[in-house]
Amino acid sequence: MKTKDYIKKEDIFGAHNYHPLPVVLKKGLGVYVWDVEGKKYFDFLSAYSAVNQGHCHPKIISALTEQAQKLTLTSRAFYNDVLGEYEEYITNFFGYDKVLPMNTGAEADETAIKIARKWGYEKKGIPENEAKIIVCANNFHGRTITIISMSTDPDAYKGFGPYTPGFVTVPYNDINALEEALQDKNVAGFLVEPIQGEAGVYVPDEGYLKKAYNLCKSKNVLFIADEVQTGIARTGKLLACDHEDVRPDILILGKAVSGGVIPVSAVLADDEIMLVIKPGEHGSTFGGNPLAGKVAIAALEVVKNERLAEKAEQLGVIFRDGLNLIESEMIETVRGKGLLNAIVIKPKNGKKAWDVCLAMKENGLLAKPTHNNIIRFAPPLVITELQIKESIEIIKKTIEQFD
Ligand code: PLP
Repeated sequence: MKTKDYIKKEDIFGAHNYHPLPVVLKKGLGVYVWDVEGKKYFDFLSAYSAVNQGHCHPKIISALTEQAQKLTLTSRAFYNDVLGEYEEYITNFFGYDKVLPMNTGAEADETAIKIARKWGYEKKGIPENEAKIIVCANNFHGRTITIISMSTDPDAYKGFGPYTPGFVTVPYNDINALEEALQDKNVAGFLVEPIQGEAGVYVPDEGYLKKAYNLCKSKNVLFIADEVQTGIARTGKLLACDHEDVRPDILILGKAVSGGVIPVSAVLADDEIMLVIKPGEHGSTFGGNPLAGKVAIAALEVVKNERLAEKAEQLGVIFRDGLNLIESEMIETVRGKGLLNAIVIKPKNGKKAWDVCLAMKENGLLAKPTHNNIIRFAPPLVITELQIKESIEIIKKTIEQFD
């Protein structure tokens, strides 16, 4: 079968809920992926920052295959001999009392919302069913009904109502709007992405997160950070919140917790918050399975041992400097932090970000537009300086093709 045959099969038998770039991948290693015709590419999406540790990292794959031969799933009806080890490891790694293990990012967000609401009723004294969560315009937290209920993107919510109540939206990076919304005594939590990834890599003003955190503290409101995309070394620190020395009350992680190997997500908090959830009130058949535990320990060890946060910080500067040197009318803005970056494309002669991504694909680099005119660049963090420079050359050459 050739590329077009694979695409046709998906088109016939799969739901049409994605619009992928026309490339069919069959192999990945480190920063590279290969298509079914054998062409090699730099992967500059990393499965939306799930593959921070690089494709098929041998240490993570070895943890996977070893555990897969012993025990994969028990459900939480019984204990297993890995979960406690994993819980100890990840809570120490991020510095929290407890973890609640789930699978996808959306589930972890839902979990955090449930914890915050319950905390609001039991600890803050909010009247039953009146808890509110403040969220930000242009957020992206996943695709469930509750999560799209807090979205401001019509593509995400339109046609899927009725929506879950209990959310108040404020503009992102607007501290005054947040302060005003926090006057409501029924607010239990403020849910925020430290950098808005899906929206197009919007980096808030320096100090925004710290001020937001302090305001939340002054109103006894939980500061909830969705670090599903920004976390685990992507932005040049272990967590994007670390850039401002903010320690979220509830931390939401997903994607790179497993290095993109299997779905593993996690919600972390201290006892006085996490223990509002009692047996039987929340869970998931697959959450906390032994395979996930071993894979996640290995994936986090890779982040630490290979100093991926430091690498992302250092190479991010080189990458943005390189992009800023490209002289083209098509590049409106370059922005980002660490190795989570984006360029805003100004269409030229009818050619848009999508066309640029198609041309980059031809030149050996895969990236995907978000919101029409923005191209996100998020390579695996195991990328080397030489490879970053090669990638800048590919992007430069591609953009210049349009001039
Ligand atoms: N939260 C953020 C910030 C995300 O970027 C995403 C996915 O891109 C999610 C949550 C949802 O994660 P998942 O697709 O694993 O449900």
